[in-house]
Amino acid sequence: MNRILIAEDEPRIATFVEKGLRSQGFTTAIATDAVEAIEMVLGDSFDLMLLDLGLPVKDGLTVLEELRGQGVTLPIIILTARDDIQDKVAGLEGGADDYMTKPFRFEELLARVRLRLRNDRATTIGEKDTSIQIGPVTIDLLTRRVCVDRQEVELSAREFNLLETLARHPGQVMSREQLLDRVWGYSYDPGSNIVDVYVGYLRKKLGSDFIETVRGMGYRFQT
Ligand code: CA
Repeated sequence: MNRILIAEDEPRIATFVEKGLRSQGFTTAIATDAVEAIEMVLGDSFDLMLLDLGLPVKDGLTVLEELRGQGVTLPIIILTARDDIQDKVAGLEGGADDYMTKPFRFEELLARVRLRLRNDRATTIGEKDTSIQIGPVTIDLLTRRVCVDRQEVELSAREFNLLETLARHPGQVMSREQLLDRVWGYSYDPGSNIVDVYVGYLRKKLGSDFIETVRGMGYRFQT
């Protein structure tokens, strides 16, 4: 059974989401401020978090930053009344998996929750695995540190997510659409070249040998 943490200070919204999720068989808990949300994530095992950006004590983006900074890989969907594009970009760059603007329909939230949980499960290498080692590349999934030949390489949150996604499926071709969906998590223009741009960044930082372009299909992490 999946456990979902709802970090939301507005009782009406928290209750609406909680009722909906429980009716679908999820277990839920509510955190009503930022400090409580961080403590609950660190102290308990949740499968996904819904995070309101406008939380008391600290901003939701700070919560996101602190959790990712501590190596928490829990899928996080941001809920917010702000439809400011700047916040959206900041949230996703800060390591959120998806984003919903209030007011939203419960069905849409549910669809996104299920998608995130499925992606997370599909990409789970093993419950006890905390790192991926492929050739000279080591990816620490807890601290989100990457080394090539024991030399640490600094990656942005997005670069790390792209590398992790490719490396969790070594030898397997992943299409641009799959990578867009898993790493960017929301619908980009399919003609967007953002995946190619980020693969370029990774090659520059890691060396050009690891990620192979499969013409007309996508990319593959070499084994
Ligand atoms: Ca709020």
